[in-house]
Order: sequence, then structure tokens, then C-alpha cells
Amino acid sequence: MLDVKDLKVGFPVRQSGEKAVLMAVNGVDIRLEKGDALGLVGESGSGKSTVGKTILRLNKNSSGRIVFDGQEISKMTSKEEMRYRQRAQMIFQDPHSALNPRMTIFRSVAEPLILQTKIRGGALKRKVQELLEIVGLQRQFLYRYPHELSGGQKQRVCIARAIALNPELLVLDEPTSALDVSVQAQILEFLKSIQTELDLTFLFISHNLAVVRHICNKVAVMYLGQIVEQGDTEDVFSNPQHPYTKALLAAVPLPEINQKRRSEPLHGDIPSPLNLPRGCFFGSRCREKIVGLCDQSSISNTELPSRHLVRCIKVARERELAETQAEMPIPLKAE
Ligand code: ADP
Ligand code: MG
Repeated sequence: MLDVKDLKVGFPVRQSGEKAVLMAVNGVDIRLEKGDALGLVGESGSGKSTVGKTILRLNKNSSGRIVFDGQEISKMTSKEEMRYRQRAQMIFQDPHSALNPRMTIFRSVAEPLILQTKIRGGALKRKVQELLEIVGLQRQFLYRYPHELSGGQKQRVCIARAIALNPELLVLDEPTSALDVSVQAQILEFLKSIQTELDLTFLFISHNLAVVRHICNKVAVMYLGQIVEQGDTEDVFSNPQHPYTKALLAAVPLPEINQKRRSEPLHGDIPSPLNLPRGCFFGSRCREKIVGLCDQSSISNTELPSRHLVRCIKVARERELAETQAEMPIPLKAE
């Protein structure tokens, strides 16, 4: 359904008075099949939101391709683009700023229907009521304003608006992290249920690995604008290979991760994308770094079974070694 190839997004910025380009996304490949929920994880500043927004054409990409249902989105005609804007929707972290404070809930949810369909009058009201019902809000909310709703209720309104035009792809950017802990679980369960019921494909952006483990069948770990590891959630969580993934997992209490195999949690901060390290971008914080190798080479992906991809030269070397050993002839037993 969605194929992102070598995506790069740069923002023009000023650095001590000089013009510079900040590479927020620096060569991302991701692929979503229909019905997938792909979790995009990584620390703040790693480029997750920029990937999501660029897929929805809220940002321009500097290079690379985004192909939706066989069609490259930058080459769509305006009519095709309008259709794409129905089929792919985004849900943002902060439901408060996503809603117009001067619009009633009815108006907010009805807006995409008014703009993109011919539904009007009683049919429109029924459709909006139906959408509110799907997201678990009673009809008494119809003519209320955002400030009269709780954070969780506002996020439900945003979800109702996003699903109004029967989209196929939802990009959810930290959809629960601005909400009270007590309602986060409810909204997550609800999102999980509509994914199945409405046959949706999710790109689920989150820095919370436990949440991704619960919601997503695939996961991509992002660091400084690149995907360092991706694969089926089960594979990546039970057998993390990249030192960054291992460090992220070390910081979350997940019962299925063997305590003995846990590595140290992360230290220090993510470097600025304006000052990218040489070689492997994770090099400056990596506990397994091999000086003279990791800082010199350009790093490509190593593929492990079941499309588990790891961008680490140490993993690549270990794999090569294992393969050459496997190919060595078995010595004949002496008589
Ligand atoms: P994440 O969502 O993972 O926290 P973002 O995609 O928001 O990461 O940001 C990635 C990097 O790009 C950060 O260094 C951020 O400061 C920078 N960035 C994001 N948007 C812009 C912009 N519009 N202009 C300049 N820099 C930006
Ligand atoms: Mg973000």
C-alpha cells in the first residue's frame, strides 16, 4: 500500500548566521502492506514526525520516492492528490490545537464531508452522529465546543474527523502522549479496535515501545533521520540487533525480554542533525563501537531472516563470519 524509498527531507536553517540545511530525514525506506500497523519509534528529534508529515504531503521531500497504491505521490494530478487526501489521514499528538476552538464538534467533524462530498442537511447530521458513535461520543456532544471536552474526548473527535471519508491509511503521530495516563489505554484500545473494524493501515509514531509492542505488527527504529532496524515486532523485540534498539529496549520493562541479555540504557543526547557524526550516526553513543571501522564506513542494511533489517556494520561482519563458517567443508573423521 505504501512504499517509501530513500526518503530525504532537509529544512533550510541558519546556523550561526550561515545558511545550512538540516537533514531531518536522511534516507528512509519503509513499506506498509494493507492492514499493517507499523510502529515508528525513536527518541525525540529523530525525524519521526517529519516522515509522517512528508507522507501526507504536509512537507516536501528533498529526494526519494513515496508510492501509495502504485502511484508516486509527488507526480499526482491535483484531482489524484485530492483523492489521496481522502485515502490518507493524519492524527496529531495534541488534539487541542488540532481543533478549531470556534467550531462546534458537529462542524469540525462535518467539515471534510462538506468539502469533499455532496452530503448535506439531515444526511450530514446523521453521518456525523454515526461517526461520533463509532468513536464513543454521545449525541449531546454535537453542539459543544472543544473547550467543553476533556483531552481524550477531543482526541476522539479528531479520530471521528479523520475517519469521516473512509480513509485507508492513518498516520498517527504520538496520538496519546498529550493525554492523561488514565485515558491513554482507552484510546489505544479504541484505535486498535477501529484498525480491524475499519480495515485501516497504520503508521503509528511513538516513543513508547511498550505501546508499539501492543499495537503494531511491524516496527521501524529511527535514529537521526535513518531507520537503524526494522522487522516484525516479535522479531525485533525478542531479538534486537542494533545497539540503539538494544539500548532503547533496556529502558522499558518488558517481561518477555530476557534480563540477562539486556544492555545498558542510553547515555547522552541525540546529536544535532546539523552536526552528523562520520560513518555510523549512532557511533558517538554506541557501546559496541569499533574505532576505525564504524566511524569510517558508510553503513548499509544487513538482512536477517523474515525481512529483519539492521543497519550496523558489526552485525554485518558477524553475519559474514557466520556464513563463511557455515560454508566451510566439514572435516572428514579420521579412521
Ligand atoms: P521527532 O518527531 O522524531 O521528534 P521531528 O521530525 O519533529 O522529530 O524533527 C527531526 C529534526 O528536524 C529535529 O532536529 C527538528 O528540530 C528538525 N525540524 C523539524 N521540523 C523542522 C522545520 N520545519 N524546520 C527546521 N527544522 C525542523
Ligand atoms: Mg514528533
